[in-house]
Amino acid sequence: MIPPSFDYHCPKTVVEAVALLSKFGDEAKLLAGGHSLLPMMKLRFTEPANLIDLNKIPELRGVKEEGGVIKIGAMTTENEVLYSDLLLKKVPLLPEAAKLIADPQVRNRGTIGGDIAHGDPANDHPAIAMALDATFVLQGPNGSRKVKAVDFFHGTYMTDMADNEILTSIEVAPFAANTGYAYNKLKRKTGDWATAAAAVVLQMNGNKVSHVTIGLTNVAPMAMRATAAEQLMIGKEITPALLNEVADAVRAICDPAEDLRGDAEYKTAMAGEMTKRAITAALARCK
Ligand SMILES: Cc1cc2nc3c(=O)[nH]c(=O)nc-3n(C[C@H](O)[C@H](O)[C@H](O)COP(=O)(O)OP(=O)(O)OC[C@H]3O[C@@H](n4cnc5c(N)ncnc54)[C@H](O)[C@@H]3O)c2cc1C
Repeated sequence: MIPPSFDYHCPKTVVEAVALLSKFGDEAKLLAGGHSLLPMMKLRFTEPANLIDLNKIPELRGVKEEGGVIKIGAMTTENEVLYSDLLLKKVPLLPEAAKLIADPQVRNRGTIGGDIAHGDPANDHPAIAMALDATFVLQGPNGSRKVKAVDFFHGTYMTDMADNEILTSIEVAPFAANTGYAYNKLKRKTGDWATAAAAVVLQMNGNKVSHVTIGLTNVAPMAMRATAAEQLMIGKEITPALLNEVADAVRAICDPAEDLRGDAEYKTAMAGEMTKRAITAALARCK
């Protein structure tokens, strides 16, 4: 299907883009890579009268380290995440997970900011951002504010962002030495969204867990952090019995929608399994 007609705007700065958003309100949509927005426009699930293209705003692109924080511009593509030397060295979970997102064509234009702002529980970055304890920087007409990833998602396609705000960057701390990490994603085929996936960041003190975060993809109306499961692990040795307990705690918070990827029972079971595998893989990297 062809989307209804719209006016196209191409601001050169974030300030200009915010001014356009404020002017058009809910009659406008921001265009990033277009890989989620354009299919929705073609299906007429959304019919914005104005498209505000973020692709010509250089300040929204790139990965840098500033004041000990890694800052990823919202318009940084998945491919740029995948091949960023800085991320490979300092936050390797992100490039590893970006490899599992969609296919090369989508990764070439799809952006990390669009993946997050879309608020789709099937997208991979929201749960990864939760596991990284990331902070999102939003800019609106009254300046910028920061929101923790764990507080950003309110439901399917619902986020903390106001109609006149833009996600400008994602901030994450570099990994400490010996941090273990993994993203385990069950998918039917290359290019598919997750049936269930788990992101884990882990630190050990000797053979006991000193820090762990677990983010879950596509097993509830929004990405989730499995805090009760994390609590079970602190100060403990990772044994098969503990992994089973953690998987039970993960399954207890799952509420997936049934679709062609499986029924709720299957997806819930797979969330537990992906978590166990991600913890095991992360542990192997702590050593
Ligand atoms: C075949 C296919 C397979 C895919 N598989 C996966 C997958 O396995 N995992 C996965 O995570 N994703 C997957 N995707 C989604 C893909 O990653 C999209 O690129 C992503 O969801 C949206 O990013 P985008 O840059 O294309 O944003 P767009 O489609 O341009 O925008 C998406 C939404 O976010 C808003 N938006 C965009 N940028 C901003 C911003 N900076 N501030 C505020 N709002 C903004 C837009 O207004 C729009 O509402 C797939 C897509 C396709 C087509």
